[in-house]
This record gives sequence, structure tokens and C-alpha cells, in this order.
Amino acid sequence: MDNNIKVAIIGLDGANANTARLIGLKNFEIETTLMSTIPPYTPPSWTSILTGVNPGKHGIIGWQKFNRDENTINLTTSRDVKFPRLTELLDRASYKTILINFPMTYPFSGIQNKNNSIIVSDWAAPTQTIYPRELHRKYEDYLVEPPHQWSKWEGNKKDYAKIVYEYTRTRLQIYYDLLEKEEWDLYSIVFSETDWFSHLYPQILEKKEKNIVTPTFQLINKFIEQAKEIADVVFIVSDHGFEIKKKVVHVNEILKRRGLIKYSRLKSTLVNLARKLPKPLVNKIVTSLNLQSSGMAYETNLTENKAFMIEPTVWGVYCKTKKDAEIVQMIFSNMPEIKKVLHSYEVFHGPYSKDMPDIILIPNKGVTFSQLFAREPIDNVYKGDHHPEGILYISGKDIAETPEFKKVVTVFDIAPTILHIFGLPIPDDMDGRVLTEIFEKDSEFTRRKPKYVDPSYYEKKRQDEKLKKAIKNLKLKGII
Ligand SMILES: [Zn+2]
Repeated sequence: MDNNIKVAIIGLDGANANTARLIGLKNFEIETTLMSTIPPYTPPSWTSILTGVNPGKHGIIGWQKFNRDENTINLTTSRDVKFPRLTELLDRASYKTILINFPMTYPFSGIQNKNNSIIVSDWAAPTQTIYPRELHRKYEDYLVEPPHQWSKWEGNKKDYAKIVYEYTRTRLQIYYDLLEKEEWDLYSIVFSETDWFSHLYPQILEKKEKNIVTPTFQLINKFIEQAKEIADVVFIVSDHGFEIKKKVVHVNEILKRRGLIKYSRLKSTLVNLARKLPKPLVNKIVTSLNLQSSGMAYETNLTENKAFMIEPTVWGVYCKTKKDAEIVQMIFSNMPEIKKVLHSYEVFHGPYSKDMPDIILIPNKGVTFSQLFAREPIDNVYKGDHHPEGILYISGKDIAETPEFKKVVTVFDIAPTILHIFGLPIPDDMDGRVLTEIFEKDSEFTRRKPKYVDPSYYEKKRQDEKLKKAIKNLKLKGII
């Protein structure tokens, strides 16, 4: 067993094949499509990359969740992740991990196993911080606030690129330091810059005016090259892809016209949000989702609504009863903008499927959704938005060149594959598989078959490690 292997995961939020080309990724043995979660959205997909399971098992579907018993909408945080992350499993087995900028990792108290971990907060955290605390003090000056509010720069697009560049340049001091000076087995980081740029400059997706993003992308590329020098195996992953959208379907407007939403301008939900969470966090999510002007949560009474969409990128409609779900299915089934209408049980499986939206709308190419009320149910637009096809690049020791994949590669496959590289067994309730095709035929990774264990294996491992440490301490003190 190779205990000294170093693996790096470098996440490029929302990157598709074009973005990867703009960044200039080269000399990777493997370059393929990575299928996102349904929906192809940042919170569920990064959580699936880290856990190897679908949202029905990890519980995350968006930045917000609907509480069916209380008829309230609440924000999701690290505490809502119901399946152990890859970094937590490694931590229990005494591997050292670094986790930077991953959504749903704040507050750090929501991550149970972090004795051997360093965690840097993501853009959605109300304050920028690092665990453990002494590293926060060390890097405080570089912990600049992420410029995630791309939509505020619609009128002044050029300046936004400069601001993102400065942010990236400053924060990279932390990323490089942790990469080069800290001890680690798994180094994982998410760059959200790719997602913000694809939203504000959709033309880069058509390879136009790409110079505006080049300076920032060069910084990221240089960092990737350095990670390749230090790590034995490097994975470049995106949580979802991107495409140009030309049509928008105003889902709640349609539901309102069918009498499923009662438009009443009651602001009860906003009050609920504000009461339960720290204000900076609420403000951050609300502005970044563009909810303040007109939205479900602010203009309707959730108790009276029979069916509604909360976050458009979730692609989901919550329904109060089975009959409401059937009506929603009927309404959207014959629309040319919609490819498929699925029931929750066709998409999600696991104990938290009950918290997911009841109906999932799969849009056709170039179609996006909105939760806002509008004059027309369907409008023309020109904007960049999420798409299920993301990217996966792999490079390093014993990685085979351009292998043929037996099945579509999905975000669920990353965590089990990395456990296998470390020679660790895979909890048998993970949904993904070990990507055995990526390894050279005569390598140790191929010779050693993937091993599956009961999920309790890692809990036991943690207790064993604790016991070992306790015994060592007693020996040191001369007690035994
Ligand atoms: Zn994303």
C-alpha cells in the first residue's frame, strides 16, 4: 500500500470544454466529460463530488431548502450535509487534507472530522476564515472578500474582470502557501472565478471577447501547473458545465396563472429567513440569487401555495399534494421548452429524497428557468447558465492515456476513485464507482481491486486512531 501518495483536486466551477481551453489546460493524460448532478447546480454537485452520493443521500439541493412541516424556506449550510465528505473519511483514517473554497463547508462546526484538516471558507460564508484558527491569523491579510456578485456589474463589465483578478492574485498567496509548505495527502480547492465569468460574459462561451478573462485564467493555469509538480495525481473537475440560454420559462408565473400560486405580497418568508440566520449570510445569499426584487419568498404566502419553484437552477417544483404534482406534470409535459418532466423518485434515492422538490423539469437545449413573476410566461434572453456536461482532466503517476470509459463518468465517481488511489475501502452506500479505466494496466492501482465496506468501517477507524493516540500519550507520560 502506498501511503505517501499525494492527490490534488482542482475544481473549476461551471467550466465546460471551452473554458478549459481558455484556461489552457494541457498535458493531461485524460480529458473527458463529467456529468453533473440533476440539477446541474453548485451546492448539490460539489457536495456530490465530495461525498460520492446523490442529493437524496447528502440532502443538499440548493442554497435554500423548503421545510414542508413549517412552510418556510431556510438557507442551507455545512450542517445540512448528511453524508460524510471524502475529507472526513480520510481524516478518520489519519490522512491530512486541505479543503479550500468548497460550498457547504461553512460553518466549520458542520464538519465533524477535521483533526487533520485545514479548511478555507467559500464565497458564501458570511466571513472569510480558516480552520484551524492559528492559520486564520497567519493568512488574515490575504482572506479578501470574494467578488461573487457578478450580476451587480452588468453595467460595468470591464471593471469586474479587474476586481476578480485582484481577488484571485491575493488569495493565491494562501493557496500556494498551503500547497507548498503544509503537509497533506489530499489538497482540494474550488475556483469560482470560472462560474462568475461565464455568467457575466456569456460571449466567452462562444469564444468571443475572451481577452477580458485571460489575465485571471493565466493565474489559475499557473497554479494548476504548480499543483501538477507537487501532487502525484491531479484531478481537474467542474461541478457543471455552461451554455448560452436563449429562452427563459417563468415557472412561477405559469403556476400562478393556473391558480397554484396565490400572489399576495406577504413577506412572511423573509421574516423567517432573517430570524433564523445571521444577517450577513442572509444578505449574501439573497443578493447573489437576485431574489430581492421579485421572488417567491417575498410576494406570496407559502402556506396557501399549492406548487412553486424556489431557486430556478434547482429545476424543481415543490408540490403540496400528489394531486398538485400531477397537475404540474400535466402543465409542463407538452411544452416545447421542456425535454422531460420527472418525479422526485425518478431522480433521487436515499433518506433525504423526501426533502427534494416533487417535480423536476428538464429543460431543452438553450432553455433556462426563472422563479420571478413576469408579464409573459416565456421570454427571449441571452445569458450564460448551467448545463449538465462539465469537465474532468486527470494527470499523474500510473494514469493511462485516453482510456475508453465503460460508462458515463459522473460527479459521484470522484470520491470512490480517490479512496481507491489511497488504498482505502469504499463505503458500499456510495453511488459512484471507482474509475478503474483511468489506471495503467500494470500499475498497482489496477492490480489492487476496489474494496467495499460497511459505512461503519470509518467510524471504527476513527475510534481505533483515538485509542492509539491515548495509549501513546499514556506511554509518553510513563503511566503504562
Ligand atoms: Zn457551480
